Amino acid sequence: RAKENGRGAYRFFKREMDETIRERRNLARELRQAIVDEDLVVHYQPQARASDSQICGFEALVRWKHPTRGMIPPLDFIPLAEETGLIIPLGEWVLRKSCEEAAGWDRPLSIAVNLSPLQLNQANLPTIVHEILIQTGLSPARLELEVTESALFKDYQRALDNLRRLKAMGVRIAMDDFGTGFSSLSTLQSFPFDKIKVDKSFVENIHRDERATVIVKAVLGLGRSLDIPVVAEGVETPEQLEFLRGEDCAEVQGYAIGRPAPADTLSAWTCGVVEAVEAAEKPATAKR
Ligand code: C2E
Ligand code: MG
Ligand code: MG
Ligand code: MG
Repeated sequence: RAKENGRGAYRFFKREMDETIRERRNLARELRQAIVDEDLVVHYQPQARASDSQICGFEALVRWKHPTRGMIPPLDFIPLAEETGLIIPLGEWVLRKSCEEAAGWDRPLSIAVNLSPLQLNQANLPTIVHEILIQTGLSPARLELEVTESALFKDYQRALDNLRRLKAMGVRIAMDDFGTGFSSLSTLQSFPFDKIKVDKSFVENIHRDERATVIVKAVLGLGRSLDIPVVAEGVETPEQLEFLRGEDCAEVQGYAIGRPAPADTLSAWTCGVVEAVEAAEKPATAKR
C-alpha cells in the first residue's frame, strides 16, 4: 500500500515537474523572442541626495511587456534569463537603452544600471560598455554599474579585472544589496567601490527592528570610515528618511522619493534647470 502511494506520489510529482519544466522552456522561448522584438521597457527610479532630497540620478529597472500576461517584473524573469544565458543580450539591451535615454536628458543626471553575474564574467564587457558610451554619447562619468557580491563568485579574477577596466574608463561601480550575501566585507576589501547600497530589507525595518536599525547605522559608519558614500534603498516613510538624514546617509532611493516610472514621465526631473530642481523637491514627503 505504502509502495503504491509512493508510486502515485512519484507520478504526481513527475507530472508536476514535467509541467514546470515545460512552462520554463516556453517562458524562455518567449523571452528570447521578446528581446528580439524589444518587448521590454526600462523604468527609472529617482535617487536623491538625502540632505535635501535633490534628485541626482536614476536607476534603470527593466520590465517585460508581455502580450497576454501584462507587465512582468524583473524578479519573475531575470533569474531565468541568467540561467539560460539570455541575460547577456537582455542586459546589453537595457544598458544601451538607458544610456540612450539618459543622454537625451537636459540635466547631466547619473544613470545606474544593474549588471548580472554572467555579464560581469563576460570577457568583453568593458568593450561593450565602451562601445555603448561612444554610440550613445553618454559621458562615462554619468554611468554607474550596480553589481552584487554574488557576481564576484564565479570567476573572481575575471570579474575583478572587468571592474578595474570599467573604473579606469571613468564609470562608477556600486555594490548593490549590501549585507544580504555571504561575504559582503571581503568583497568591499577586494575592490574600491564608489558606492554602497544598503539593502532594503534593513532599511524597511528601521525603527521596527532594533537589530536592523543598528545594522543600518553600522553600514553608514563603515562607509564613512572607508570614504564610500552609502545609498539607502527601499526608503518608504518620512520617518526612515528623517533617520537616514540624521545618520548622514549620502543618498536615498525608494517610494518616499519616487517609484520607478517610464522615461516619458521624467521630464519634471530631467528637463531644464530651475523647474527641475523645484519638481525634484516635491516628491520628498519628509519635513525638514
Ligand atoms: P535592485 O537592483 O535591488 O532594485 C531595487 C528594487 O527595489 C526594484 O525592484 C525597485 O522597484 C524596488 N524598490 C525601490 N524602492 C522601493 C521601496 O520603497 N519599497 C519597496 N518595497 N521596493 C522598492 P524591481 O524593479 O522589481 O527589480 C528587482 C530586481 O531585479 C532589482 O533589484 C535587480 O536586482 C533586478 N533587475 C532589475 N532590472 C535589471 C536589469 O536590467 N538587469 C539585471 N541584471 N537585473 C535587473
Ligand atoms: Mg540595483
Ligand atoms: Mg538593490
Ligand atoms: Mg535589492
